[in-house]
Amino acid sequence: MYGVNGIDGRARAEIRNSISDFTGEYQLELVNKDEVLAQTEVEVKPYDSYYPYSVIDESLSDFAKIANDKGIYAEVKEFGKSSQGRPMQALFVASDKKTLDEYQELNKRAMEDPESVLKEVESGEINYKVPIIYSNIHSDENPGVDSVMEFTKELVNKADDSIPYRVIDSMTDEGKTQVEKEKEERGIRWSELVEDQVTGVGYIRDGVESEEHPGNTDAAANLSEEQLNKFYNIKDTSANVKEMLDDVFFILVPSENVDAHAVNVRTNGNGFDLNRDNTYQTQLETQAMTEMISQWNPVNLYEIHGFYNQFQVEPCSPTHDPNVEYDLFIENAVQQGEAFGSTAIVNNDSINSFQMPVRDYLKKNDKGDFEWDPFDDMSTSYTPQYSFLHGTLAYTVEVPYGNEDATQAVKYALLNNGKYVGEHKKEILDLIT
Ligand SMILES: [Zn+2]
Repeated sequence: MYGVNGIDGRARAEIRNSISDFTGEYQLELVNKDEVLAQTEVEVKPYDSYYPYSVIDESLSDFAKIANDKGIYAEVKEFGKSSQGRPMQALFVASDKKTLDEYQELNKRAMEDPESVLKEVESGEINYKVPIIYSNIHSDENPGVDSVMEFTKELVNKADDSIPYRVIDSMTDEGKTQVEKEKEERGIRWSELVEDQVTGVGYIRDGVESEEHPGNTDAAANLSEEQLNKFYNIKDTSANVKEMLDDVFFILVPSENVDAHAVNVRTNGNGFDLNRDNTYQTQLETQAMTEMISQWNPVNLYEIHGFYNQFQVEPCSPTHDPNVEYDLFIENAVQQGEAFGSTAIVNNDSINSFQMPVRDYLKKNDKGDFEWDPFDDMSTSYTPQYSFLHGTLAYTVEVPYGNEDATQAVKYALLNNGKYVGEHKKEILDLIT
């Protein structure tokens, strides 16, 4: 029922929006005529890390308690109410409470006296931590909710420890040659805007046929471990939670669109697509999210979506909002995007390639000229594009399937991203200020 690889983009109303009708506890019985020989409770859900709306708020409270018990700080804040009156919850996770207060003081000073704050950042006089938002807005693109929940669960449970995972350290020579070969085959080239910054990591499909989308040469590829090792130098690494929280803090909003999540659909209680409303802010949810973005001025925001044939990680291709100039952000944006995508593809079983619009969507047309396939940067109606106006390096991610692999891929990419932002916090601030 849920597709070859889990929930996907097919028949939204019949398949994705019906999930909550079938999810839950069932009684499984072994019956011989009228006699019940054995029985047990079975939990039926699309995949292991699937979180229905009914458990989100309680789980966030539980996560906060675990975090505080383990010596970091976490607090659930209600930052708004949905159109149907449901609370919109964010979990703040920081090294301690004063991190949040000190950041707000710094934020205020940065507004009133940016020169002096910049000087202190440059000289290393101040010890500052920067906020990162992870969220989901289209509730029936379930790994968006679930990956943020799984990341949060891991973060708090390992708050006094390190979390092991894998990263791609570099491309092998064979990998570099393969990227050029596949670019040629698929008729793309890198634009002057990014050619000096990108590596092409993740573009390799090695001719693998997509099970879900046969014949599609962009669809996410399921590569073997042998193929991955041929093209990429993969290494084991870990993120020490307390060390990471010396540089960043998290604002985690697994479910911005709570009315939609309650019934597993895309639109809010008024039938609006919230991810077209950020310019106008007609809906309570977009108003609340905008207020939170303006209150906290996050340096980074990741909003997780589905489902595209390819696993897609921004930054976007042109046309780009002229109010945010490329030279301010593009270098760090492509590096951060490649770090995200490359981590995702080596921390799950079957989603082992990704595409990036600004890198991979300059394509040869029928006349042999290169032309951009535009993706999403032209309008501030999307939350990430809107948040650019607040100086946020923001990304939309499109996972290819709703399944455990997509959830785990994004979970580890979100983790590595926290570490990445911490290690690059000064460059990121420099680039966006
Ligand atoms: Zn979406």
